[in-house]
Amino acid sequence: ATMPPLLSAMANAGRHGVLVKSAVVMERLGQADAVALDKTGTLTEGTPRLTDIHPLVGSDLDEVALLALAAAAEHPSEHPLARAVVDAARERGLSLAAAEDFTSTPGQGVTATVQGRKVAVGSPARLLDTGAGPRVAAAQAAAADLEGKGHTAVLVSVDGQPAGVLAIADRLRPDAAATITSLTALTGSAPVLLTGDNPRAAARLADQVGIIDVRAGLLPQDKVAAVREMEQAGRRVLVVGDGVNDAPALAAAHTGIAMGRAGSDLALETADAVIVRDELATIPAAISLSRQARRLVV
Ligand code: ADP
Ligand code: MG
Repeated sequence: ATMPPLLSAMANAGRHGVLVKSAVVMERLGQADAVALDKTGTLTEGTPRLTDIHPLVGSDLDEVALLALAAAAEHPSEHPLARAVVDAARERGLSLAAAEDFTSTPGQGVTATVQGRKVAVGSPARLLDTGAGPRVAAAQAAAADLEGKGHTAVLVSVDGQPAGVLAIADRLRPDAAATITSLTALTGSAPVLLTGDNPRAAARLADQVGIIDVRAGLLPQDKVAAVREMEQAGRRVLVVGDGVNDAPALAAAHTGIAMGRAGSDLALETADAVIVRDELATIPAAISLSRQARRLVV
C-alpha cells in the first residue's frame, strides 16, 4: 500500500530530526501563522557557562564559598543555569555539600538548606523585589551591570540577605537568525520572544536574531497568557520551548515543539513534536513538509 501523505510526512520529518507525535500534529504544523519562542535553551544552546562571581560587600562569603553554597543548592535542579553553577564548582574542584528542603520555582529559582544556612539562587528581579537596604541596592546594581553586558545575572541569597551575584553567559544557536527569517516568511508574521530572563539580556539576544516583539521577565503562566492572547486574536500559535517553565505554554499552543536534547522531561512529554538533534532549522522544514502533505491530502 502507498503510505498516506501525512504518515510519509511524519517519516520525512523524522529523518530531518523532528519527532512528530501524531498525524493530527503533522497536519497542524503547517497551519501555524504565528510563532512564539523561548530564549534560554531554545534560541540559545542551553549550555551556559559561569563567567563571573561577585560577592557583595558586607557578606562573610568569598568567591569560592559563595560558589560552593550556590552549587550545592542548585545541584538537584535540572535548569541550564543550575548546571552552569554546578559545573563551575566542579571545575574548581569544590565538593558539594548536601542540599536539604530543596524547592524549585519555575521562572524564579531554587531554595535549599546547605550546612544549616538557607540559600536561595535565582532571578535578581524576583528575589530582590520585596527587599530593601544597602545590600539589596548593591545586588541590583551588580545585576544591572552584568545584564547590560548581555549576561544573565543570578542572585545568591544566604539566610535572607543578598550575598552575591553570579554572571552566566550562553551562546546563540548558530541557526537561530536564519530560522527566524524562514519562520517569518513561512508564517507571514514576525516571531515573538517569550522569556523568563531579564529584559536587558532578552533585548540584546532578540537584536542578534532579528526578533522585534520581546516579552521578558515572564513566569510560566505569563507565557500561557501571551499565547492565549495571540490565539484569541485568531492566530494559530506554534510555541517552541525547552523548559519546565515552557510546558504550560506548549500545552496551550495550537502546536508545541520541544527541544529534545537539552529539554526537560516535562516539556518533551507535553509538546506535540520534539526536535531530536536541537537544530532549529528543522522547524521551518517540518512546516513545509506539513504543507506539502496537506496539498496531497485535499
Ligand atoms: P527562559 O524563559 O529564558 O528559558 P526561565 O523561565 O527558565 O528562562 O528562567 C527565568 C529566570 O529565572 C532565569 O533567567 C533566572 O534568573 C531564574 N531561574 C530559574 N531557575 C533558576 C535556577 N535553577 N537557578 C538560577 N536561576 C534560575
Ligand atoms: Mg528555556
